[in-house]
Amino acid sequence: MKGTIFDLKRYAVHDGPGIRLNVFFKGCPLHCLWCHNPEGVAFEPELMLLPNRCARCGDCLRACSYGALSQNGDGLVRADRSRCTLCGDCVEACQREAIDIVGREVSVEEVVAEAEKERVFFEQSGGGVTLTGGEPLAQPAFAEALMDALREKGFHLALDTSGHASPEIFLRLAGKADLVLFDLKLMNEEKHKKYTGVSNRQILENLRALDLTGKPVWVRFPLIPGINDDGANLQAMADFLAGLKSVQQVNVLPYHRGGVEKFRRLGREGEFAVYEPPAEDRVQAIIDFFRTRGFRVKRGG
Ligand code: SF4
Ligand code: SF4
Repeated sequence: MKGTIFDLKRYAVHDGPGIRLNVFFKGCPLHCLWCHNPEGVAFEPELMLLPNRCARCGDCLRACSYGALSQNGDGLVRADRSRCTLCGDCVEACQREAIDIVGREVSVEEVVAEAEKERVFFEQSGGGVTLTGGEPLAQPAFAEALMDALREKGFHLALDTSGHASPEIFLRLAGKADLVLFDLKLMNEEKHKKYTGVSNRQILENLRALDLTGKPVWVRFPLIPGINDDGANLQAMADFLAGLKSVQQVNVLPYHRGGVEKFRRLGREGEFAVYEPPAEDRVQAIIDFFRTRGFRVKRGG
């Protein structure tokens, strides 16, 4: 069984308890305009240019048999992605690692082997493996096979998800995790559609259904100024969460511009938006808002 990922990150400390191995699934059915991991949105591998490393030598142009690369006036490389076959010849030719293909197939066994290398860190820190992305539930067969294999080896498992999946898939896979990290972005359905591309109706129903199972949940709230930090959204979110029994904490994740450079590297600037990061006092006010309503709140993952 194989799946497509865009990263395997060791020593991760923001996506569940302890030290973790993060498995970043490639592909997501949502298209959040503020996405911090835009390389996780498309399901297929993609060409990525890193102009800050480029020496303008032109070796990649000469390596490409498809005429997909050119240099602009100042020598920086540009890609015509419609001509690129993702053959990887330019990546091999570049001595500066200034060009890359994001996304690769991995087998369940490969990921389990990587997790084994981290076992001592997991045991000392109370960590484990987190399936994240992208959206793990969008590759359900691979996610399930991976979870089964990791569980069999005794690893602590966290599933980081938008909750956007059929109830059957969502509950089956969430049921295999020790902890679900559930991203909750916007309570208003129309706004949710506008900013993420999908309705939140099934997402909220899935969270309600999961709550009935008693599975521990950490709710992750990406705080995007001007989009979801208004009083109406915060109140609706607090009211909704107050009706659940399995939410152990709310993680407030302040927007940052870490994804912006990645949009550019992927040639996908027009598909995403750039926002102002929230002021520190606004972040604290929102943390206090949830705390005064009885939630355990943590800043960050
Ligand atoms: S081979 Fe690498 S360093 Fe040279 S022009 Fe291409 S991307 Fe830049
Ligand atoms: S991956 Fe292959 S086709 Fe695409 S730009 Fe590089 S050499 Fe050309």
